[in-house]
Amino acid sequence: MPILDAPGTADFESLLHDDDKAREYLLARTWPLGDPFCPRCGHRKVYSLSGERLRCASCKYTFQPFSGRWINNGALTPSEWLRLIVLFVEERSVHQMKEELGLSYNTVYKALTAIRFAILAHALDARQLISQATGLDSYLKGNRLTGGPREMRMDTIPVYGILRREELVFVDLVPGFQAETLFHFHMNFHLKLIRSGNLVYTDRYKEYDALMFCGNDSLPYEIIRRYDEPPHIDAVRDEFWEYAQVRIKKFRGISCQRFPLYMKELEFRFNNRDKSLPEILAAYLCALVPSTD
Ligand SMILES: [Zn+2]
Repeated sequence: MPILDAPGTADFESLLHDDDKAREYLLARTWPLGDPFCPRCGHRKVYSLSGERLRCASCKYTFQPFSGRWINNGALTPSEWLRLIVLFVEERSVHQMKEELGLSYNTVYKALTAIRFAILAHALDARQLISQATGLDSYLKGNRLTGGPREMRMDTIPVYGILRREELVFVDLVPGFQAETLFHFHMNFHLKLIRSGNLVYTDRYKEYDALMFCGNDSLPYEIIRRYDEPPHIDAVRDEFWEYAQVRIKKFRGISCQRFPLYMKELEFRFNNRDKSLPEILAAYLCALVPSTD
């Protein structure tokens, strides 16, 4: 099979309404070296079967080109995927996306979840994030996004920390910390807590500019005291925090289960703000879903 040429930014537009071209573009991201390989064992000798099916010469696994990849989660055509990516980069609402693409709300919503998971899976701390500690593992069954979120309470809602390293930001899971920990620090050690809807964030803590979590209605928000002095991250007018807050407000009704998906999306957008996001996202979507066991 010939090595497929990867079109540049200028050509991206030409893919959006041409399914054959869009598919060729996505296949070039699926198999960057040009030749297909087995998504299960990585073996490079595969046979073509009827239709689009392929079979691994080594482990005999039968697969389709996008099997086991994030893009396999969603009933979109190749050009619809690329148009959705563009709308996502433009931060359109789900309603606008559904209108533009002529797809159902659920189809768009599921595909967006796949995009967000693909982003999160490319973060440095992906392995830590797709785990029981965040509950994100419950969305995945094998390499498919078919599960649902589990219920979360004060002692299971995870805490995230914001770290700045020069121009970059990292939203880290803070191991061993839950919402309960921050309430405890607030009550007993006067750690400043600020509540904005279901979002709760703190003053500076160790190397973090702030700790935060997204709560739900089960939490005792009424114990949070009021302060005259703003916490560190508001006082320094942190660039990422200002960028993130506008967007967090727009994610109205965001659940504690999905919160890390949105925070890693913001981390990704912020850290790649000078880059062309559609190409990066197309490559992320074509990557293999990592095994979580
Ligand atoms: Zn194989």
